[in-house]
Amino acid sequence: CAKEEGRGTYCFFELSMDRHLQAREATKRALRLALGRGEFELNYQPLVDLSTNQINSFEALLRWRHPERGVISPEDFIPIAEDTGLIIPIGEWVLEEACRAAASWPDGISVAVNLSPVQFRSKVLAQAVDHALKISGLEPGRLQLEITESVLLQDNLANLAVLQELRRLGVQIAMDDFGTGYSSLGYLRSFSFDKIKLDRSFVCDLPDGPQCEAIVQAVAGLASGLRITTTAEGIETQEQLSILRASGYDQGQGYLFGKPVSGPDVASVIERFSAA
Ligand code: C2E
Ligand code: MG
Ligand code: MG
Ligand code: MG
Repeated sequence: CAKEEGRGTYCFFELSMDRHLQAREATKRALRLALGRGEFELNYQPLVDLSTNQINSFEALLRWRHPERGVISPEDFIPIAEDTGLIIPIGEWVLEEACRAAASWPDGISVAVNLSPVQFRSKVLAQAVDHALKISGLEPGRLQLEITESVLLQDNLANLAVLQELRRLGVQIAMDDFGTGYSSLGYLRSFSFDKIKLDRSFVCDLPDGPQCEAIVQAVAGLASGLRITTTAEGIETQEQLSILRASGYDQGQGYLFGKPVSGPDVASVIERFSAA
């Protein structure tokens, strides 16, 4: 009986693995068509200058509006886009769309775009960034590129060269999700980032995690010593904001200030802040 049960379990497992693979294949097929069908859109989340309480930029966040499955989160399809190489054309679309949108915003407001490590390895990244800037007419200083530590993890020297090439275009480079990867400090030494974004996981444990508070403060001290701008992401409560402000963070992002909104809603978000 136990043997039977065991076999049943094994079969069930096999079946569900199979279903999982089938679902992934279906997602891949749909992803291949999505760009041509105009199923992608960008949402924009405000980043607020903590000394003035004004918005100084928006982060562009990718959404996939699947015809049957509704809106799919980037966490669910970006890994598949990376495996298939589709992240290259999708990433180019994101750059062009984000720059085009930002060019229509007030002058002082920048846009931040997330880059995948796969885009870094593609050799055409700097060209794609340059192209997006040229066709949109956006001033390069108003584009920030967000990269995670995993970009620098492999092929350190080649990726450093790409970073330098991007910097020469005049764009800003931010290290995203800071503190979650490996040997972040080494990367800070080998490349001068314009900004570091402290990962949300450190912010969400405030104010009850004494370890978190120590890390939050240490990162702020490190960044100010290196003259790098700091952003804290995932701020949801007034209490978290007070701690981050007192720790010296320059910029904040999170549901407390505003969730990501669609392109047409950006203007009203800016208005709401400048009126307050
Ligand atoms: P990220 O770059 O760290 O972006 C911040 C994520 O945190 C966003 O999730 C945002 O909606 C969410 N968030 C912001 N404030 C709060 C908050 O107060 N509380 C909570 N719980 N969450 C908050 P989203 O939009 O689902 O994006 C997830 C990740 O997907 C991004 O993390 C980024 O790594 C990646 N991603 C998004 N768009 C793109 C893209 O165009 N290209 C690439 N390569 N990756 C992207
Ligand atoms: Mg980001
Ligand atoms: Mg982040
Ligand atoms: Mg993150």
